[in-house]
Amino acid sequence: MVSVTVYDGSSNIGGNKIYVEDKGRGVFLDFGINFTKYNMFFQDFLTERSSRGIHDLIYLGLIPKLNIYRKDLIPSDVDLSSYRRLDIEAVLLSHAHMDHCGNIAILEKNVPIVATKSTIAILKALRDTVASPKIGSEVFYMSARERAEGTGGLILESHAKGAYEAREFYCTTEPPEKLIEFCSSRPGQSSHGKKIMSHELETMDKVSLPFDVEVYDVDHSIYGAVAFILKGDATIAYTGDFRLHGRYADRTNRFIEAAKNVSTLITEGTRVDKDEGSNVSEEQVFNNCYAAIEGTDKLTIADFSSRNVERLEMFLSIAKKLGKTLVVSAKDAYLLYAIDCAEGRCIMDNKEIGIYKELKKRDKDKWETGIIMANWKERYICPKDIMQDPSQYILCFSFFDLKHLLDIKPKGGSYIYSSSEAFSEEQSFDFIRLGHWLDFFKLKTYGFKLEKVDGNLYPIFEKGFHASGHASGEEIVGLIERVDPDIIIPVHTEKPIWFKERFDNVILPEEGASIPL
Ligand SMILES: [Zn+2]
Repeated sequence: MVSVTVYDGSSNIGGNKIYVEDKGRGVFLDFGINFTKYNMFFQDFLTERSSRGIHDLIYLGLIPKLNIYRKDLIPSDVDLSSYRRLDIEAVLLSHAHMDHCGNIAILEKNVPIVATKSTIAILKALRDTVASPKIGSEVFYMSARERAEGTGGLILESHAKGAYEAREFYCTTEPPEKLIEFCSSRPGQSSHGKKIMSHELETMDKVSLPFDVEVYDVDHSIYGAVAFILKGDATIAYTGDFRLHGRYADRTNRFIEAAKNVSTLITEGTRVDKDEGSNVSEEQVFNNCYAAIEGTDKLTIADFSSRNVERLEMFLSIAKKLGKTLVVSAKDAYLLYAIDCAEGRCIMDNKEIGIYKELKKRDKDKWETGIIMANWKERYICPKDIMQDPSQYILCFSFFDLKHLLDIKPKGGSYIYSSSEAFSEEQSFDFIRLGHWLDFFKLKTYGFKLEKVDGNLYPIFEKGFHASGHASGEEIVGLIERVDPDIIIPVHTEKPIWFKERFDNVILPEEGASIPL
């Protein structure tokens, strides 16, 4: 009999860990970090301790109590043996957002991960460029830990010399040679850098799965996003994250057509309480950002999620039209390089892209010297270049890059906030701090403004500068009516009751409770 168990992420946004089982064999649909739970205890510099493996996460209840985690991350005071062990044939990963893939880092090493070429490339790039690797960043490859001598096995440490171990990723389509090569090595490993021990990237048909799995591209705010249809004794469609108001709506529509009459639909519901009128199209975002940038004779700063390459390409097209240079970080450039390895489409070929040259003592990151500098050295733009002719540039900066403005010293200009709205008090506070920076450099702000409510400042978001990656309530209703499933299981939503109020065949999942189909 087929059953679905939502182990995490049932009534909040993200942290999806959905286990689908048939006769003792199962797969996870995503294995993300539950930031709602995580942020209850941790923030910025108060985080789980890598030296204690999974201790802090499991003790605080931030990951499900299951016996499925990396053995090398278990210190002597953690005992998983009384927890349920699951057979995991694979994780079917919908996309590379951390709330869907982040906890793969702590999952048993030999679990195969099935994902698209772009998702695999993005995860590899993120791991290569992470500044101070912690356990949570070890999705693509990891350092094995050992119990440190003289600590009673409480402290775990990694060997500085040993090679990294790569996870077994399997591609939903034939991986190109360039991606295979990208995934099997680290920049600089031929000199003294640590190597990756990996198996060659292969297609998903090499993985034995308990279901026939069909993969459909969907439109979301990151490239490489997919939905899955599982066919066995029951048919199950899982949306991952999706939208229908973006440029690639036809992809989502093809998935919906294929999902018609499945017995069970597992759907996201991030924006169910938002109506169609709240949707902004990528075209509207383009028009509004274009108008804002065209109207300034000073510096422009564009603030958007670095993983949203579609938005980066939108700003690139504005830069081209206005004869400006789009300045990205070296990390962004590396991500574009990774996308090229996966898709054979080199966005860096566009001469209008410049790379921001940070003021630092020396360049030591191998991914930067070995790949970015080696290929695009002439594209580097230093703070002084921008200072001399600020109107020539659109700078891709976000909150944590603001410190570089102290080297550029802009005198006025525009700041376009083209990213999602703050949804917590904490994030609201970041906007107040951002406001101080914008005031200090006299930057005209688009996309949000700070307003006083009951004596306190709050960010009020201005519509039209960001298109959400998630479907509105009407889009979800449309999905459900077209698919017409026997059972609807909502996940990735703070409003599961919204589904219950509208449809009579909704099962609200309880974390860890199995739903027989
Ligand atoms: Zn997402």
